[in-house]
Amino acid sequence: MRLRNIPGAKEEMFVNPFVVQEPENKKGKWNEIYGAERPFHIEIGTGKGGFITRLAALNPDVNYLGIEKYSSALIKAVRKREEMTDADNLFFLRFDAEYIPQIFAGGEIDRIYLNFSDPWPKDRHAKRRLTSTHFLAMYEELLSDGGQVEFKTDNRSLFDFSLAELELKGWELLACTYDLHADLALNEGNIMTEYEQRFSEEGVPICKYIARPGR
Ligand code: SAM
Repeated sequence: MRLRNIPGAKEEMFVNPFVVQEPENKKGKWNEIYGAERPFHIEIGTGKGGFITRLAALNPDVNYLGIEKYSSALIKAVRKREEMTDADNLFFLRFDAEYIPQIFAGGEIDRIYLNFSDPWPKDRHAKRRLTSTHFLAMYEELLSDGGQVEFKTDNRSLFDFSLAELELKGWELLACTYDLHADLALNEGNIMTEYEQRFSEEGVPICKYIARPGR
């Protein structure tokens, strides 16, 4: 997803207090930037931040980091963060997930959320999908024991690909649905993202899995 360029957004990402700078220096000590040591959950491809800001407000006992590649999306997430006056558990990072092993230590992350990740439909781009074995291998290193990935998408072919990739890597599938909003158990407490809102209004069913590395 490429949003219209927002003048000044990139420059602001270098100075906004809710956007982490020099992430390589936080490797192994991300907890230090938050108000307290707590479980550490990240969202990759945060977009405009509707999901993670609501999640962080509901769960003050978890530290959250929203990672997004483009400033023009991230600035909208940061604006939502600025309204959360009391929270000390949410930061953002402008970063390409391709390089996450440079900024996180092994076992440092307790949960990874992937919401409506870009599908990269061409076969030659399959490695760029955030649910590919290429990324699963990175997540495996960075997740703590018992750490999980939660993935939602409207895109059935991306979802089928993603399930096959889990199997190739020997991951354990803990939960799976092809129609999240009709699944009473999995939908309980579900927080809709901006994309989820849009697709479900169009009647498109939402797929979701929860999985963890098979250690
Ligand atoms: N998660 C949001 C939602 O559900 O409304 C946004 C979904 S949008 C289709 C995908 C987002 O992931 C875009 O904002 C895109 O810039 C971001 N993204 C894609 N690849 C990324 C990467 N490698 N690292 C960080 N962000 C990425």
